[in-house]
Amino acid sequence: MKNNPLESAKQQLLDIAKILELDKKTVDRLLKIENLVSGEISVKLDNGRIQKFKAWRSQHNSACGPYKGGIRFHEGVTVEEVQALSMWMTWKTAVVGIPYGGGKGGVVVNPKNLSKSELQRLSRAYIKLIAEHIGSDKDIPAPDVNTNAEIMGWMLDEYEKIVGRKEPGVLTGKPLELGGSKGRTEATGLGGSYVLDSFVKKLKKQKKNVSIAVQGFGNVGSYFAKFAYKNGYKIVAVSDSKNTLYNEKGLNIDKAFDYKAANDTFKGFPGGKLLPAEAVLSLNVDILVPAALENAVNEENVSKINARHILEMANGPVTPRAEEVLTAKKILILPDVLANAGGVVVSYFEWVQNLQNYYWEKEEVYAKLKKLMDKAFASVWSEFERLSKVSKKSTLRQAAYSLAVQKVVGAMKARGEN
Ligand code: GLU
Repeated sequence: MKNNPLESAKQQLLDIAKILELDKKTVDRLLKIENLVSGEISVKLDNGRIQKFKAWRSQHNSACGPYKGGIRFHEGVTVEEVQALSMWMTWKTAVVGIPYGGGKGGVVVNPKNLSKSELQRLSRAYIKLIAEHIGSDKDIPAPDVNTNAEIMGWMLDEYEKIVGRKEPGVLTGKPLELGGSKGRTEATGLGGSYVLDSFVKKLKKQKKNVSIAVQGFGNVGSYFAKFAYKNGYKIVAVSDSKNTLYNEKGLNIDKAFDYKAANDTFKGFPGGKLLPAEAVLSLNVDILVPAALENAVNEENVSKINARHILEMANGPVTPRAEEVLTAKKILILPDVLANAGGVVVSYFEWVQNLQNYYWEKEEVYAKLKKLMDKAFASVWSEFERLSKVSKKSTLRQAAYSLAVQKVVGAMKARGEN
């Protein structure tokens, strides 16, 4: 299969395992998915027909704590993708130092084809499938592509009905009324903007002279663009699945955000011109921010990349083969496991608030997120400098993986595994 994300995830692990000189037994253990829940869920459609949907929950590694990771609703979901995403969650939670393992769920569905009540029945049916495998001290799902707070609310309700008690910490990214955290919706984008600030400081550039193109304008891309714009960066392009909205002098992201929310398209927006969707990837910018799906930058299109650096807000947007080409050109890639960790960090804060039944103000959430992201960036950067002394071809991904893998291996050892 072409650009199979599980192959990418495995290759990234093998790459760092070689550098860290891990023994084969440890590597095999880290490559293993600890538990995979698979099933077909049946949902009654509004017309009375029953439709079946393939669904999974992958639990990669729980050495550092309960599995953690989102649930994706997308017609392109595959079992390999869900497994890869769960591995990436293991490294992500370890890089930012929160007490979790890695998990991920997915359902093969295009939610745009469902009515709201069908979507609710699908969400409840999915929770029935995985209920015995999740729990606030076992596996804690959250939103991912095409899932949101409303869906988490239905899922929590279904779970609590099944177990017969309240357990808000079983899911994060919930509505505020059900124990959600202030700041969770925008957390991934906000966390990415903190990583961007730290990186631009290292480049010794001024924000207003840093041009940025963002691929994808869903929850992650749109909030990232909004925060970066507010902080004074020049966002020259944003894209959705149909168009790239471009203005070389910089877009007014607040206006573009509202326009897209109202019209579900960039078409007709007065502050920029429209280019084909894929044009966003080849623009001549300081920082390209892929914030959509895996494999956006791959072997076929990597030669068209004109950006100086890449900040990965999607999970797995740059394939290992593409990364080799970019690294040879001295293009730095801020890896997903660091750059987009803000979402799961605020999920962690939400879980802590649920366990304590004590809720924080948004300012407190933002300040704690910044502290954690800044610390994670600093450790990844210094590990990158250390690795770069050994090999000029070292990458920020290797640095992040080095820290994460050592942490997970340390936890496995502390549990008595050898
Ligand atoms: N789906 C998000 C991610 O890929 C968030 C996961 C979470 O909050 O558990 O990091």
